[in-house]
Amino acid sequence: MAVTTLGLQSIPYVGPKIAEILADLNIKNIDDLIYYFPRAWEDLSQIIAIADLVPSGDKFTIRAKLAAISTFRSPIKRMYLTQARAVDDSGQISLIWFNQPYLRTSLKKDKEYFFTGKVDKNRNGLQMINPNFETVSDTPLHSGRIIPVYPEHKNISSKMFRRIMKGLVKTISQWPEILPAAVVKKYKLLPLNNALTEIHFPMSLETLQTAKDRLAFDELLTTQLTIQQIKNYLKKQAAHPIPTDVGLVKKVLEQLPFKLTDSQKQALWEILQDISQKSPASRLLEGDVGSGKTIVVAIAMIAAKQSGFQSAMMAPTEVLANQHFDKLKPLFDKMNTTVALRTNAFNKGPGDADIVIGTHALIYNNVQFKNLNLVVIDEQHRFGVKQREALKHKTHPDKHPSDQEFLPHFISLTATPIPRSLALGIFGDLDISIIASKPSQRPRIITQVLTEKTRKVAYQKILEEVKKNHQAFIVAPLIKESKTISAKSVEQEFEHIKNEFPNVKVGLLHGGLDAVIKQKIMKDFESGKIKVLVSTTVIEVGIDIPNATVISIESAERFGLAQMHQLRGRVGRSDLQSYCYVIPSLDDELIIRRLEEFAKLDDGFKLAELDLKTRGPGALFGQLQAGFIKYKLADWTNTEAIKIARNAAREMLEKDPELTQSPMLASRININDAIMHRE
Ligand code: ADP
Ligand code: MG
Repeated sequence: MAVTTLGLQSIPYVGPKIAEILADLNIKNIDDLIYYFPRAWEDLSQIIAIADLVPSGDKFTIRAKLAAISTFRSPIKRMYLTQARAVDDSGQISLIWFNQPYLRTSLKKDKEYFFTGKVDKNRNGLQMINPNFETVSDTPLHSGRIIPVYPEHKNISSKMFRRIMKGLVKTISQWPEILPAAVVKKYKLLPLNNALTEIHFPMSLETLQTAKDRLAFDELLTTQLTIQQIKNYLKKQAAHPIPTDVGLVKKVLEQLPFKLTDSQKQALWEILQDISQKSPASRLLEGDVGSGKTIVVAIAMIAAKQSGFQSAMMAPTEVLANQHFDKLKPLFDKMNTTVALRTNAFNKGPGDADIVIGTHALIYNNVQFKNLNLVVIDEQHRFGVKQREALKHKTHPDKHPSDQEFLPHFISLTATPIPRSLALGIFGDLDISIIASKPSQRPRIITQVLTEKTRKVAYQKILEEVKKNHQAFIVAPLIKESKTISAKSVEQEFEHIKNEFPNVKVGLLHGGLDAVIKQKIMKDFESGKIKVLVSTTVIEVGIDIPNATVISIESAERFGLAQMHQLRGRVGRSDLQSYCYVIPSLDDELIIRRLEEFAKLDDGFKLAELDLKTRGPGALFGQLQAGFIKYKLADWTNTEAIKIARNAAREMLEKDPELTQSPMLASRININDAIMHRE
């Protein structure tokens, strides 16, 4: 038996079997168990007199004596039927249970119980079907009070959880406070032991709320402490400054076929400032799709080369890494900057290149950097302290023979416009630059919601545009058809589209293809050989084909709004009028309404906010890998609460930088596992 489950087995009802199931739920000790919060609470505190019951479909609790009980087997359906009659001072009601033969022995005639259930009326009067019941006592558990409802689990019922938690009441009531007394006082928080008691066994809905507020505060505070600890960690690290050379920047700008927008200039300036410091920059560059983030960081990388340093740029996909390499190489060539492409499938450019472009695998492969000093992470921000440490090295061992290690500067790019509250919650004070406007006066993309009946509209537009020598994307969520998921697949669509447009060259792209094939298909699409590309969301991030003017999104209900905005951003990347069609595979009013909302809004920030409100941060950040971002009680959209937690964190760390006074709290903060930027 695992040692860790021993503690749990001292609790009533927790034997080896239950302990094992709990372990499956990641509950390995009493602390985990106490922090296994109900997912909801049901107010059964009102006891109703039988005479006052109404068959309204609502749940009621009565307190009544069992006057009669009998169990028999129904001859037709061969199921057990338990029938009983309960009486209180005001009247009587019949109770019926199906297929629970054990009730015969567990329910006792003449005893008083709480019964909770929905009330019905038939010709014999009122009845409750399958009511929950519990012996009357001063401390009822399942009725006659506000009861906790625990997350469903096939082997442990909510009722069982209640029993287990009841065995912990005393332990919880003595649970030590994790916050300094001054913080509890200043922020008027419920003491932790009270909050934990209330969350499991609330006295009233009001006290339950104060308990939720307290525990949500702890969650937000933990995040904010983590962020500030990371900041403090970075401040203490050494980095080589990359001095700003205005003359050089001017020279690069002269090479470009366009002028930088004001927001691009602003962001570039902020980045150059940041990387000229002696501690590592950690900056997030946010900008809507197509706002022109790439060129901004390309200039920073040229600046790094000019100061004698290497840079690395990491993209989330091979396709994107390739595109960055191809698009940026001419500019780098002109600036006497060598560039290499390193992915699992490709290996181009010199071994000692000034700039290395690759996928995220780059840092784990043994690419040898001599003096890496700037790392750009495109479109994905799974970058925590751990990954940074992996890149930590003595950047100039010849120039700096001392033992000091240096961290490169980090810039992450994201096209997921992060709403302010979320940015604050996740990034705290981390530095963010925003490219607010898009280059030039590009026409607004015309977006239309279609149905199965009107999907012809999309096909006609695709044909029309292809005739003008423009190109189109068709996106579907799945690679192959699935028996369990009702959504379109690209393989299916590919066949369908080939039939629909027999004279048009159609391509198929998805993550399951070999990297070399993917690369070839992208090349053929870029060169215009392929006119219509049927693809999964691998095209979502970053692909830049200015000649593409139509995108049609199948099974659109499966995508978050921010994600669809990304997809839509694959078109409208030139002065050509572009079109986006969203086609849900379910004809559902709510879905259509949400998609209509999307069609109306062209602002990534507003869409992200909508996603955050309706679907939570998961819709914006994809599958959440890090516990860092998961809250049980706190609300991501509560900017006010986040600000308060941030202030509290700051005050705490000022007084006690290592949190030595709050060891319990400190043990929850692990900056090595924390995710700094995550998309
Ligand atoms: P994203 O911010 O989505 O990564 P990109 O960096 O790929 O966008 O830029 C989108 C397109 O806009 C590219 O073709 C790029 O060359 C072009 N671009 C960037 N900045 C400007 C600008 N200031 N004026 C015109 N076009 C620009
Ligand atoms: Mg990009």
